Amino acid sequence: MNFIQDTLINWYEENHRDLPWRHRPTPYQVWLSEVILQQTRVNQGMDYYLRFIERWPTVADLAQASEEEVLKQWQGLGYYSRARNLHKCARQVVEQHGGQFPADFEQLKKLQGIGDYTAAAIASIAFDLPHAVVDGNVYRVLSRLYDIDTPININEGQKLFADLADELLNREQPGLHNQALMEFGALHCTPKNPNCLLCPLQAQCLAFAHQTVMQRPVKLAKVKVSTRYFNYLVIRFEDSIYLHKRSGNDIWRNLYDFPCVESETSLSVDEVIATAQFKELIEDKPFTIVKVSPVFTHKLTHRTLLAQFIELKLEKKLLQIETKDLFLTPETDLGSFPIPRLIDLYLTT
Ligand code: SF4
Repeated sequence: MNFIQDTLINWYEENHRDLPWRHRPTPYQVWLSEVILQQTRVNQGMDYYLRFIERWPTVADLAQASEEEVLKQWQGLGYYSRARNLHKCARQVVEQHGGQFPADFEQLKKLQGIGDYTAAAIASIAFDLPHAVVDGNVYRVLSRLYDIDTPININEGQKLFADLADELLNREQPGLHNQALMEFGALHCTPKNPNCLLCPLQAQCLAFAHQTVMQRPVKLAKVKVSTRYFNYLVIRFEDSIYLHKRSGNDIWRNLYDFPCVESETSLSVDEVIATAQFKELIEDKPFTIVKVSPVFTHKLTHRTLLAQFIELKLEKKLLQIETKDLFLTPETDLGSFPIPRLIDLYLTT
């Protein structure tokens, strides 16, 4: 056993909370406690756990309950899809595994609502199989111990921390090790007040040495997705159509689309026609509305575009088109211009 593994287990044996699901837990009890604790804090979770266990002592009992009863018992925890999954999972365990949770990580993951974390918790705590758990506590402790600044909420970070947790796993006592690491994060190496001065891992802790404890773990701020409303004008004159060459410094630079009235909210056709931008584009020439498309949704990383295409017919040519980066081209040539996906979507729908 290495020093960190050893220290974590010693610390756990002296400091862990005495929780009901820690007394020689069955796979059912581990699973139930993990699902409940994903929803709430330990204190409140304990009441729910005890009520569930009292009412349905085994997974077979839970499988026999109606969904409504399970939802009722779950009431107050929120996120009801978790309760439905709990119930479905209990039924799967009974129907597919004779009422016993499978002692296999991959098989566990096939059950309703069980992902990597819960499967690793059941496999290690209930069956002592060597699977490392990675929850918020584990991210924090590992990022501090090894002073890692890779964000925990990007794929690269998740892979890195999963590999590291696996490397650190005590393969002789994986269940105990996982619980010790999580409990150490929950009670000692806490987000806001880690007890570094009295920490048994202080000498090994790189973030403590580099004074970066409070900057670990690193989490990338969620990018706010904004919505933009594009009211494209598909303007035809005889057999030709007005195209717009995009010259701005954005991802569509040098692509071609149609003249557009952008708005901050969704606009009706009448509202588009009433805008100053529309009047300027159309130069107050007489026009006929031929067709209005449904709204197309186009999702980009940082924004969602909602676009409608208003098809117009002009009797007279537009004059001041160069200043608007517009030109008239035969409609049959449309296919020769590079166009954004959104325009392609409209043209091919
Ligand atoms: S020294 Fe501080 S940051 Fe490092 S493991 Fe201990 S409590 Fe956590």
